[in-house]
Amino acid sequence: MKTRYFSYLELESAGKLLQAAELVAFPTETVFGLGANALNAAAVKKIFVAKGRPSDNPLIVHVADFEQLSMIARDVPPVANLLMQRFWPGPLTIVLPKQPEVSEHVCAGLDTVAVRIPNHSIALELIRHAGFPLAAPSANRSGRPSATTWQAVAEDLDGLIAGLVCGEPTQFGLESTVVDAIANPPRILRPGGVSLEQLQEVCPEIEPYAPCATSSHENAVNSPGLKYRHYKPTARVIVVSAATTDSEFALAIEATSAVDYVGISTPRNPARYRSILICSNVSEYAAKLFDFFRKADLSHVDVVCCEAVDDMGIGVALLDRLRRASQ
Ligand code: AMP
Ligand code: MG
Repeated sequence: MKTRYFSYLELESAGKLLQAAELVAFPTETVFGLGANALNAAAVKKIFVAKGRPSDNPLIVHVADFEQLSMIARDVPPVANLLMQRFWPGPLTIVLPKQPEVSEHVCAGLDTVAVRIPNHSIALELIRHAGFPLAAPSANRSGRPSATTWQAVAEDLDGLIAGLVCGEPTQFGLESTVVDAIANPPRILRPGGVSLEQLQEVCPEIEPYAPCATSSHENAVNSPGLKYRHYKPTARVIVVSAATTDSEFALAIEATSAVDYVGISTPRNPARYRSILICSNVSEYAAKLFDFFRKADLSHVDVVCCEAVDDMGIGVALLDRLRRASQ
């Protein structure tokens, strides 16, 4: 298949591909998404094939407005309404009871659907041109770091999808926060662009993300995506902190390895790294991490050392991605 590349001025043509049940990747404020008509089973199935995604990993549905939300979800609890009013459009995905029209492949057989309104003008305009909600997981081959630039989407999916809307690198660089709003109290299933502290302003009783519980049976059933390998470059990822001693570091890497470093502070012994990226804050670190992983792979680095960050704010989501990438 020849992939067509679109600019933001060609969204009508990209929308026509979606109407023809084809896949189109597009930018959002979190990462690039791979969109298909959420109400068309044949279109949704193509997402799983192009990504190589396990069929029991459900997709997030992207809607442009509250009218489209009612096509997808029903019985919206009051707390979900409060969260939507505060954080939509934005990087918060809310799990709700699903409408029967949503393709069962979107929800991987669950009776719930994960939905959000993205805060990105291209994404919103594309959904409006298509005329229906878009099921859109991250636009990368399954297991790889999410795509934060259109070039990264092309690297993974050129020839496998009908269209790609190009745009600027994404703002957050990490995926949305997923909240189960059916649970009482609501709970965070995946940390992401909206932090626990922000959510607590609206819903003080919200249950924080529990990393240890993600492999438990209950969580594997409620949010099946969490049990899969994620966000990994080919290079080995090692998470380091100020407490990592030189001898521990030497043990972790082989003497002959080519090693890259990404973090906020300058590392000890900078000469040992082939390439170093120092970010000025956690948001910048989060925004640049996946691209750094991909560049390390393109230059055949053996190990990427990533500085640990404080377990608060967007740092919780960043640490989660680093932990998964290093497993
Ligand atoms: P991705 O599309 O790659 O960003 O991954 C979507 C994430 O949302 C995965 O962690 C899924 O498990 C989660 N998710 C999608 N739909 C549901 C749902 N109905 N219930 C719970 N989690 C969901
Ligand atoms: Mg993904």
